Amino acid sequence: MENLINIVFCWVLGFGNLFSGPDKDFKTKRESMVKTQIENRGIKDKKVLGAMLKVERHEFVPLELRNYAYKDRPLPIGKGQTISQPYIVALMTELLELKGGEKVLEVGTGSGYQAAVLSQLAKNIYTIEIIPELAGGAERLLKNLGYENIKIKVGDGWLGWEDHAPFDAIIVTCAPGEMPLKLIEQLAENGRMVLPLGTGYQELKLIRKINGVIKIENIASVRFVPMIKKMGEKK
Ligand code: SAH
Repeated sequence: MENLINIVFCWVLGFGNLFSGPDKDFKTKRESMVKTQIENRGIKDKKVLGAMLKVERHEFVPLELRNYAYKDRPLPIGKGQTISQPYIVALMTELLELKGGEKVLEVGTGSGYQAAVLSQLAKNIYTIEIIPELAGGAERLLKNLGYENIKIKVGDGWLGWEDHAPFDAIIVTCAPGEMPLKLIEQLAENGRMVLPLGTGYQELKLIRKINGVIKIENIASVRFVPMIKKMGEKK
């Protein structure tokens, strides 16, 4: 069923030649993605650019969509969820200003791609996914690809991950309708959190905790899948 949805998705986009001529030159495509979609749009952090160059995005999309992995767009990953556009992954990652020693929380593991990018830039990554099948798939994939500093749990990211808090950085890759206060609580002093906020219209926000005071900055208007409360229910 998922495969069928993805195939229909490709046809809708006008990619009728889905199965013709497999293009294996993923490295070249990745280099071009980083140059044209990310660097040219103003992402400067060399380490972020390096991580985007290194992590093999095609491994994180469904097999039949591999040839579209480096396109300037989100892609379906099953269960009605999407892997974000590469530029958005890079932008959100850069906003976290990671130096290498941090403990990072991600809400919305999805394919595991964003977690893999973060794993190149910080010490420990904790990521929460509410859909068990996606969490299981990401866990297997990340293990097979050799990512060792990422821990995944199935659960409701709205509540954060108390056992490992506080986090130096938090990234939310699904959009809650309201500010997730538990996550703010679990943000370390001088920590940075990036999240899309809102139902319908969504704004990417950068939140900083400085001397216990929360500073909120609007970054861009974005479009993310909604944060799920229980299956089928939106936050
Ligand atoms: N970061 C992912 C893309 C995420 S799409 C990647 O790199 O592939 C958003 C994800 O958030 C989906 O997988 C969705 O199932 C998950 N999600 C939605 N609500 C959630 C919640 N309350 N807690 C944890 N994960 C949630």
